[in-house]
Amino acid sequence: MMSQTDSILNLLNIQDPNIKISACTNFSQAGVHEKLLSATLTYPVERCVNCGSTNIVQNGTRLTKMKLPSLGEQPLRMNLRKQRYLCRTCHHTFSAQTQLAPPRHSITRQAVHEIATLAKNSLPVKTISQTVGISASSVQRILYKDQRALVTPKELPTALSFDEFRSTKNCFSFICIDAKTHDLVALLPDRLSQTIREYFTNTYTLSERQKVQLVTMDLNAQYQTFVRRLFPNALIVFDRFHIVQLAGRALDHERLRVLKGINDHHDRNYKVLKSNWRLFHLAENQLETSQVKYYRGLN
Ligand SMILES: [Zn+2]
Repeated sequence: MMSQTDSILNLLNIQDPNIKISACTNFSQAGVHEKLLSATLTYPVERCVNCGSTNIVQNGTRLTKMKLPSLGEQPLRMNLRKQRYLCRTCHHTFSAQTQLAPPRHSITRQAVHEIATLAKNSLPVKTISQTVGISASSVQRILYKDQRALVTPKELPTALSFDEFRSTKNCFSFICIDAKTHDLVALLPDRLSQTIREYFTNTYTLSERQKVQLVTMDLNAQYQTFVRRLFPNALIVFDRFHIVQLAGRALDHERLRVLKGINDHHDRNYKVLKSNWRLFHLAENQLETSQVKYYRGLN
């Protein structure tokens, strides 16, 4: 038969049979109601992890405060008392291990998973932090860590390209690629100057950043000032695509202004400006200058 402890663990998807829950209490912290589980982690150890000796004795416990995924809206914590062991042969001491969280980490794998899931639903960091019950900076650290592991190259390319893209409905992300190879350099969850600045200063030393010679970016970007500080030797180059786009828009703006000034809608100039707008956007070498072409309606 399933004990109460087992059913709580089952409910929380904790599969470690060495964890036993002894109590569950409610408590309030800064106006937030949370649940706190008290539990122990212990199992028989046959050999010393250091010397292989079998002369092992239990040697007290160590309290670890674990962060579990929230239960609905309610943050959930666990005070886990871990068994300590002493090897009488080599005097090495060690703690009982669990898969619940990486060694020396208090945020469980399940909580990390919950944070990642909430982030995928494009919830702001502040909301995630309130739901899970850990600080916003911890949430950011967790979200960043995975992305860094994924993309951060050891050395910065000499030419970088910055861009932003709409990753979800209402959220922009920031992407940095190698301008020559188009390999991913960084993918950040938002495009705030602070996020980008911190990412580069935390990941690369100044001397590494000084090797960057070129940064291409959007014309309207607010990045210019901090890019000069981050990459002091880099030349900022505005993306050709964005310049062409701006020029195209300006041209259209002017075309429409002229079009609106012509009252006679049967006028040939009016028709050319209205229906043959594509002609105005062609590159010079794409224009046909030698052959005469007849346009219906324009005669
Ligand atoms: Zn030993």
